[in-house]
Amino acid sequence: MITIKTKTCTNCGKRRRVKFFNKKSSSKDGVSSRCKDCLVTDYSVSYIKHKESLKEYNKEYYQSTKESRSVEGKAYREANREKVLEYHRNYDEVNRDRKNELNRNYYNKHKDEISLRTKMKRIQQKMLCSSVDAELVERVFNFTEEWEGIRDFVELWDKEKDSEEREAILEDLEEVIDELEIYDIVKVRCSFG
Ligand SMILES: [Zn+2]
Repeated sequence: MITIKTKTCTNCGKRRRVKFFNKKSSSKDGVSSRCKDCLVTDYSVSYIKHKESLKEYNKEYYQSTKESRSVEGKAYREANREKVLEYHRNYDEVNRDRKNELNRNYYNKHKDEISLRTKMKRIQQKMLCSSVDAELVERVFNFTEEWEGIRDFVELWDKEKDSEEREAILEDLEEVIDELEIYDIVKVRCSFG
């Protein structure tokens, strides 16, 4: 088969590359005899010519079928109401199981993270109730997610019964937090080049 690269439009007479012609399987060379520009112009002209009558026709058609459509629709909806309800009931049931399973999977996958976060929340609350400076508590728990060492400190504080020891742990913690905050500032600045 010879593939043609160009073709002359029978309408405008321009010789153009075949990509400017629509594909047409019924044509001998596989493309339309008129180029796309001519087709578009043609369509536009006939569209404008018929637009008004089309609009009128659509309006008439819409009006004439309006009543039957609403009656049919109503009957259909009524006949199918039970079906639709049944569908939703089944959907909910199937998805409840699926949702539960997804939740279970999520929990199992993130069990450690979740229990860790819950634990941190509990200790945070305990610190606040033990009158540890609220600002320090906030600063500490900014770092517990990212820094395992901070979590160790926090857990140490949680287990410690002696109040003086607890104070000492907090002092150490504050020192480390001071450093981490500086480290964070440096990190941010460097990442901005
Ligand atoms: Zn043309």
